[in-house]
Amino acid sequence: MYAGHLGIALFAKGIRRNESLLLLIIASIFIDLTTIFIDIFKISLPSWFMLHTIPSTIILAVCFGLVIFIKNRNWRQCIFFGVVIISHLLVDYLTSRLSIWAKGPVIGLGLYKYPLIDFILEGTFIVFGWLVYQRIFKNQKNKLWALWLMLFILIGLQACFSFLICN
Ligand SMILES: [Zn+2]
Repeated sequence: MYAGHLGIALFAKGIRRNESLLLLIIASIFIDLTTIFIDIFKISLPSWFMLHTIPSTIILAVCFGLVIFIKNRNWRQCIFFGVVIISHLLVDYLTSRLSIWAKGPVIGLGLYKYPLIDFILEGTFIVFGWLVYQRIFKNQKNKLWALWLMLFILIGLQACFSFLICN
């Protein structure tokens, strides 16, 4: 999943307004960011540790959650961020086909094969997350244009991912 993850970050911000949106965005794509980091720095990992699998996702969620906990001593916040990280893998199973664990069986719907369906699915995540998020600005009419611009950019980004990159 691509921009659909950002829809989840917006949804998370909408239901826990005190959290940092930037941190929620980072958490929502933390697995992908870790993958990119490991690729760039050519870090070799133990063979059992494969990203986008259930064990590695749990490890990343626990590590991220612990850092949050050490900083703020708030278990609810720690669990919340852990859930956002785990949500990444769950929704990736809709769009991709991924191993459950390293060298384990592969599961997932693999909807990237169907760009229009992928676009509709991720677009739904974006719109729903945005609808929950924009309630924060209910009484700030001057922010309306920025909110619509944000939605427009996210949907446009997803259209590029679905129809140009995944194809
Ligand atoms: Zn991913």
